[in-house]
Amino acid sequence: MNTIQVVDLKNQYLKIQSEIDEAVLEVVRSCAYINGPAVKEFQADLERYLGVKHVIPCANGTDALQIALMSLDLSPGDEVITPSFTYIATSEVAAVLGLRTVFVDVDEDTFTIDPSKLETLINEKTKAIIPVHLYGQCSNMEEIMAIAKKRNIAVIEDTAQAIGADYTFKDNTSKKAGTIGDIGTTSFFPSKNLGCYGDGGAIFTNSDDLAEKIRMIANHGQKKRYFHDVIGVNSRLDSIQAAVLKVKLKYLDEYCEARRKAAQSYSEAFAKLDSLQTPKVAPYTSHVYHQYTLKLDEGISRDAFQAHLKERGIPSNVYYPLPNHMQKGFLNSDHFLGDLSVTMDLKNRVVSLPIHTELEDAQVDYIISTITEYLESIKISA
Ligand SMILES: *Cc1c(COP(=O)(O)O)cnc(C)c1O
Repeated sequence: MNTIQVVDLKNQYLKIQSEIDEAVLEVVRSCAYINGPAVKEFQADLERYLGVKHVIPCANGTDALQIALMSLDLSPGDEVITPSFTYIATSEVAAVLGLRTVFVDVDEDTFTIDPSKLETLINEKTKAIIPVHLYGQCSNMEEIMAIAKKRNIAVIEDTAQAIGADYTFKDNTSKKAGTIGDIGTTSFFPSKNLGCYGDGGAIFTNSDDLAEKIRMIANHGQKKRYFHDVIGVNSRLDSIQAAVLKVKLKYLDEYCEARRKAAQSYSEAFAKLDSLQTPKVAPYTSHVYHQYTLKLDEGISRDAFQAHLKERGIPSNVYYPLPNHMQKGFLNSDHFLGDLSVTMDLKNRVVSLPIHTELEDAQVDYIISTITEYLESIKISA
């Protein structure tokens, strides 16, 4: 059995090495380093894959969120609702733009926005909701969209952890994560399900108007060179990264399947343990397992659990140990807290196990037996 890693980008690369090397060298030889053909080709491929009208590539997933918010013409003090139990990026960009972040709680089973807690946080200043499809499953988009549409609030889906996931509506039609709201964003950070070999990101929309605005904002606010109609930023996807992504997009479904297979083995084995909860997948979404996250029972020490795994060569991580609203950087920023009782409970109990495309069966079995034995042993001694 090989050493267990949190992600194994090396072996993933080796499997497609000749294709990647060829694609990267082609960009190097072409000298089309900025906005070269690879960027346009990848953009078109991703539009087709997602079934969305416009993909606008950009420099990273955080820029994608910022540009998406900038395209909504908001004013300082306007309010953006987003979870606190997530990565910092969503609330960070709202703060950067002088917007008021309103933190909403998540559902205790899916770890995504609890729609029943949204309504009380909405007022006339509420201009956007940013659901995060955390760990790889979609938020409850049908309910979130219904609430937002009623009040003319924009919805930006943060799909950095869920690219490739499918959302199924009550009428049985389905759409890809990130193509349901007004705008979707994603990150191609190397460890993401669709990762490049550096930084990268993209914005999706079906609206021609928003697409035009977003394209301008990402390009210094210009449509025509050297004529800057709005204040923008400089955010581009490198041609070399686009070339890598064009190759890797072909394997995305396979990658998601490999993650799902490992997750299924974990969940089947852990179902018989009563001291933890395995990931619950909501009926309206598929799960692409960017993370495989357990919820430990209150009586279990997460520190001891992680230390035990570490001693046995199994890395684990907590995403995220401190909710956004408790981050030092946020204490002085303009924000409002909803009822965050689930967030406050989850932060102490979640722990994510290794999950990636290169996990071997023997590694999964070893992780399962190590955890099972540990939890059984502390039950007996308690
Ligand atoms: C990774 C991530 C981002 C940010 O992506 P970068 O490309 O690192 O800027 C945003 N939101 C979520 C949920 C993420 O996981």
